[in-house]
Amino acid sequence: MDGLPVVRRPSDVRAVEVAAKSALNRVRGMGFTWSLNPFTGCAHQCVFCYARGTHAYRELDGVREWGSALTVKVNIATVLRADLAGRAYRGEEIAIGTATDPYQALEGRYRLMRGILPALRDARAPFHITTRSPLIVRDLDLLAQCARRADVGVAISIATLDEALAREIEPTVSPPRQRLRAVRALADAGIRVGVAVAPVLPDVTDGAEALAAVVRAAADAGASHVWHSALNLGAITRDAYFAFLTATRPELVERYTRLFRRGRYAEPAYVREVSERVRAASRAVTFVRHRSLAPDRSGAQLTLI
Ligand code: SF4
Repeated sequence: MDGLPVVRRPSDVRAVEVAAKSALNRVRGMGFTWSLNPFTGCAHQCVFCYARGTHAYRELDGVREWGSALTVKVNIATVLRADLAGRAYRGEEIAIGTATDPYQALEGRYRLMRGILPALRDARAPFHITTRSPLIVRDLDLLAQCARRADVGVAISIATLDEALAREIEPTVSPPRQRLRAVRALADAGIRVGVAVAPVLPDVTDGAEALAAVVRAAADAGASHVWHSALNLGAITRDAYFAFLTATRPELVERYTRLFRRGRYAEPAYVREVSERVRAASRAVTFVRHRSLAPDRSGAQLTLI
């Protein structure tokens, strides 16, 4: 990818270990009440990442440094257990991976989810994970244990099936075909899994046939549903995305300037048009009907792995 720096080796990522004071963040105005992010920052370097703006809180450059500097909340499982037992948490759904990928490469080393999932399981807490990484299949055992005790969902994000294009826009993420294999493994394990066609990039990934191909592949892999999201060009993401466009697709700069002239989202008519393309593609396929795993009603703690 030209225009933005890309750190490709996990060993080149600056990871600062921190002790978090809490694990759950209360969220307002979204479809969920709590979020949980084991890392701050993300070593995946998607050009469109709306979380780039979070670097500003750490006085880092979300355009040049995104993907190269992270904090790792090494005590997150311990503080999560305290949060789940606290008075503020009342059993609401927790969204995991709203501002980072919980299964990025560093998770292979830190194994934070191997502590987080047992904490959620023991508290019977419902949750939803969003990731672009097939590493999630490592935790099929724990996810199944959680799904027997509470509502659990996973979304695997796939913006395109075009491998070359995926390398351009998500330069350090596993290829789409590998992510589809993760969808299949999750579905086969009885985990409710959907595909997030996210985000849809105007004139880059938004062709009706390209979107339909992702939807078909999702259904073929065993996904129970798809959803999509519009490109969100908040302040710092806007700088990064325009740097990418200028370097790779200068002919689109003017089109984007017009399309996003009102703010972080594209013109409503365009957003509606994309929604209709995804809806039409979804109507043309048959999704697998998810069947819940047999519930585990025991109150006893399961053996930690
Ligand atoms: S995987 Fe998600 S959080 Fe990580 S860079 Fe890509 S869009 Fe951002």
